[in-house]
Amino acid sequence: MALIVQKYGGTSVANPERIRNLARRVARYKAMGHQIVVVVSAMSGETNRLLSLAKEIMPEPDPRELDVMLSTGEQVTISMTALALMELGLKAKSYTGAQVKILTDDAFTKARILSIDDTNIRQDLDDGYVVVVAGFQGVDANGNITTLGRGGSDTTGVALAAALKADECQIYTDVDGVYTTDPRLVPEARRLSKITFEEMLELASQGSKVLQIRSVEFAGKYKVKLRVLSSFEEEGDGTLITFEEENNMEQPVISGIAFNRDEAKITVLGVPDKPGIAYQILGPIAEANVDVDMIIQNTGADGTTDFTFTVHKNEMNKALSILRDKVQSHIGAREISGDDKIAKVSIVGVGMRSHVGIASQMFRTLAEEGINIQMISTSEIKIAVVIDEKYLELAVRVLHKAFELEEA
Ligand code: ADP
Ligand code: ASP
Ligand code: MG
Repeated sequence: MALIVQKYGGTSVANPERIRNLARRVARYKAMGHQIVVVVSAMSGETNRLLSLAKEIMPEPDPRELDVMLSTGEQVTISMTALALMELGLKAKSYTGAQVKILTDDAFTKARILSIDDTNIRQDLDDGYVVVVAGFQGVDANGNITTLGRGGSDTTGVALAAALKADECQIYTDVDGVYTTDPRLVPEARRLSKITFEEMLELASQGSKVLQIRSVEFAGKYKVKLRVLSSFEEEGDGTLITFEEENNMEQPVISGIAFNRDEAKITVLGVPDKPGIAYQILGPIAEANVDVDMIIQNTGADGTTDFTFTVHKNEMNKALSILRDKVQSHIGAREISGDDKIAKVSIVGVGMRSHVGIASQMFRTLAEEGINIQMISTSEIKIAVVIDEKYLELAVRVLHKAFELEEA
């Protein structure tokens, strides 16, 4: 007997028929003698619908109220799922995040899970129930409802698996695993039978939405066995996220390509080239809880330099006003500008550690298509570039080909 957490995304609970289908799969696992915890997302499109409703009332919605609203999507699907399970004759019980007590910090709209009270869930499982938990939501120490950031149900699934010491966490979605790149953009993309945590973490943090980044962090930290599978197919092993194997000679140099259209670039022109400038620019940004991704500072000429960084598109205006109101005159910057017509493309692979010339191959491939690189950042297993968003598809396709990632 195993304890399995199964997480179903929005398309997998999009209508009553799909929810019935989900329930049938759970029933099969239950019949094999396993204990099952199901985590569900809201029906596909629902979180977006709620978000736009809120924005109709208040263009930049108050985050606490927004979380009260967004969390309702998952409250509907947990109950529908429990009902579907009951209709099959199973014992089922649903819980919102607050009812479980998934305790988070109070960073509304992007809260982090601090702890999970597993007492009731364990008792229910022992009593033969299938437990259905709402993804994407929690509660802070003051009892406020919080949400975990878009795609956050993955993190609920993995965090529950970690808390319950589950044997496996299965992420059911609308693709049958993790591919070399998003198969919607590149139809030749290939499914990977396994990928290392490190690579998955880079792919997720560079924009591959198949798994939310925090879910991969959790899985790596608590050694959760994590698998991505299709909810539309009965068979198939999906993709297993693994720890790196030593001396794997067959490891390809590049495992995957991620891209991200959600970032915007902010440039601060003509700042004095002296100690403390990066802190004066980014300190107030961090205080406002705005996440910064890439950062570039040029070498100074004439005692001044330019400073460029990227933030989420949704936070560009917030970051620009902070800089214009609190920073510009203070540090004597000439100009501050924002550009949200950018995209980031990243190639990822642990094989990069033992191979040289990968960056130059990437840059040559882009140059041959006349694609200008605006920013570059690298890690041991990743090279990321910022380009004009209109070249995104082209860039991903040519890189996918150049690194021979397509189906053999
Ligand atoms: P869910 O609603 O089930 O959480 P998501 O839409 O969040 O599903 O994630 C699944 C989607 O991720 C796929 O439909 C696919 O378009 C996209 N995706 C992006 N990169 C990849 C990748 N490398 N492999 C597989 N899917 C990817
Ligand atoms: N429903 C939430 C979203 O759309 C959480 C999730 O689906 O993982 O982002
Ligand atoms: Mg998702």
